[in-house]
Amino acid sequence: MAGLYGHIPVQRFSFDLEPAEVRWVLQGRGSEVDLSIYRFADMSASFDAPDQDGTLVWGSTQPRGLLGHVILEAAQSVLELHGEDGYLAKWVQHSFPTAALQDLRRLHLQHDRCALQHAVTTS
Ligand SMILES: [Zn+2]
Repeated sequence: MAGLYGHIPVQRFSFDLEPAEVRWVLQGRGSEVDLSIYRFADMSASFDAPDQDGTLVWGSTQPRGLLGHVILEAAQSVLELHGEDGYLAKWVQHSFPTAALQDLRRLHLQHDRCALQHAVTTS
């Protein structure tokens, strides 16, 4: 999400549903973001496949500020619930992305003129 505030207008990430892949594509367009979710039958075969080879299962355009806000709040709530140690104990392979969360918070507050409330963080 933080990349959408910079010079990388398209961001992709996938969920491995074993064997299916569900790929989210976020495309920044000014102050809005086009969201598209594609489904592929087999992630081992679709890893390098273009988005269009998948089935578009959902799409929407949302204000970047609102999207940034809800992702920021969701990530913050995960951190508050589990803490960095608890997150790592559950996820095992990866630490909580604290630096990325701090980047997103800084970029969101700096660029989105968001009038919603933001949780106070000590990190
Ligand atoms: Zn906000």
